[in-house]
Amino acid sequence: MSKHCSLQETADVLKSAKKIVLCSHVSPDGDTLGSTLGLMKALQKLGKDVIVTADDDISKVYKFLPGIENFVRFRDEERIDADLLVVIDASSLDRAGNVAQCVKAPKMLNIDHHISNTEYADYLYLDTVAAATGEIMYELIKVLGTEIDVEMAICLYTALYTDCGSFKYSNTMPKTMRIAAELLELGVKPNEISDSMEIKPRSNIEMLTRVLETLTFDADGKIAYISISNEMYDKDVDTDTFISYPRYIEGVEVAIMFKAVENALTRVSMRSRNLDVSGIAIAFGGGGHLRAAGCTIMAALPEAQKQLLQALKDQLV
Ligand code: 5GP
Ligand code: MN
Repeated sequence: MSKHCSLQETADVLKSAKKIVLCSHVSPDGDTLGSTLGLMKALQKLGKDVIVTADDDISKVYKFLPGIENFVRFRDEERIDADLLVVIDASSLDRAGNVAQCVKAPKMLNIDHHISNTEYADYLYLDTVAAATGEIMYELIKVLGTEIDVEMAICLYTALYTDCGSFKYSNTMPKTMRIAAELLELGVKPNEISDSMEIKPRSNIEMLTRVLETLTFDADGKIAYISISNEMYDKDVDTDTFISYPRYIEGVEVAIMFKAVENALTRVSMRSRNLDVSGIAIAFGGGGHLRAAGCTIMAALPEAQKQLLQALKDQLV
């Protein structure tokens, strides 16, 4: 169990440390990266010694984020001393990859918005209503008392933009829009963020055409899924947005993307209209939100598909 902190207590925990490691989750997305970079700059303005890390490759999509070049990846055998480890936008410690093992810090703080949070850190700031961890970060930076400059604003806006599906998803609250509006006032250009996020290399669209050929329906059209076999898989092609195609088909309640990252390791992404898919993800060792969740199944693609579809159909009846 973690100590649940208020924003002020979270700010105090950060202020009492000098050397701080900020950790984004594996399969880093715009929310974890933008939140981490926003906090990095705020802490640097307070004179802190900050390291930002993720135990994964960072998609080229995010190269436009100011400060992204600061990200380092620790080797498993590396040991880094710090006063505080902050794990950002990760609901369970496995999402931190090797970072918890590499960083030797007396305390760990987790800042998160996932309903599936497992309370693994000493201190926890959890707001499951926040559309994005970036929303929490905006408020936290205000409590820390640092000015949000345009670079930080770009990072925080990207965090919001990512997790509420460019302000389309049900998690988009009046507060989300108010924060986004304030970030625009600080100089964010919405078209520049959306162009950075949406303009894709040709290889991405070429992969998409192949992936769409795998589109399959199940449960009388309530389930639609796409699959990336291990032969098709290319780590340099960003496939994060592909799931929106099965998601926006009439009659589909749950959309799934299966990605065979290795022969016996399949990543699963789920999006739903109403069904709580976080529960299914948790049952497979993953997590997420009610309508957007994911997990990793240690099985080859056909077996992973069989297991997940069965679990899903049991829930749909
Ligand atoms: P995505 O499908 O975009 O990878 O993830 C959807 C949501 O589920 C995100 O909020 C993400 O953090 C969460 N999620 C995805 N995969 C996992 C996983 O393996 N473990 C946990 N705890 N959460 C996950
Ligand atoms: Mn998030």
